[in-house]
Amino acid sequence: MRLDKLLANMGYGSRKEVKQLLKQKAVTIDGAVAKDAAMQVNPDEQHVTVFGERVHYVEFIYLMMNKPQGVISSTEDNYDKTVIDLLDPLAQHFKPFPVGRLDKDTEGLLLITNDGQLAHNLLSPKKHVPKTYYAKVDGQVTEEDIKAFAAGVTLDDGYETKPGHLVILKSDALSEIELTIQEGKFHQVKRMFEAVGKKVTYLKRLSMGSLLLDENLALGQYREVTAEELELLM
Ligand code: URA
Repeated sequence: MRLDKLLANMGYGSRKEVKQLLKQKAVTIDGAVAKDAAMQVNPDEQHVTVFGERVHYVEFIYLMMNKPQGVISSTEDNYDKTVIDLLDPLAQHFKPFPVGRLDKDTEGLLLITNDGQLAHNLLSPKKHVPKTYYAKVDGQVTEEDIKAFAAGVTLDDGYETKPGHLVILKSDALSEIELTIQEGKFHQVKRMFEAVGKKVTYLKRLSMGSLLLDENLALGQYREVTAEELELLM
């Protein structure tokens, strides 16, 4: 990889700014001051430093966010803030995107990465990656609903869902539930409840496959996915 590309990718500025670093003799490769922005480097084998600090090259980033309400799960939006806007500039430099979508008013676990292959695997309908949601639902959620979801319900567009696993945490005028589904149709949880005549008033994703929302993350905060979490997810 070209030296200027490597450093630009790692957040050391634009290629023009990287040239300035080279002029300042701030960059070394295997102990020798680097002068040529176009020189080829192998970051796995060569020791690259900027102002004496080792550059650890990584191609992919994997972030877990506790998405707040009011932001859009996409990379760009003309009107609203996106989850990418909540990331620091260095993270944004990797051009990450959210894996799947949560509605604007849904909170909770969102994986953000630039690893297209992992995103594809997690979102592929063939892989049936389970996603668990916590929800508050207007009206009493009943044993009948559990049975209906287990059998699959028909959504407003005629789509028959795959079985969903519904657990009632509290059955009351405002019920609380956890629902695990293996698909990701548009507004699926809300529409499954609509199919049984009930309205979701609050929705939060708790998990996606093996990845669990870190409850220490405040709304809008994010952290890197750990090596262990990543290994389980891959
Ligand atoms: N189901 C929904 O209805 N909304 C979400 O954001 C996620 C799943």
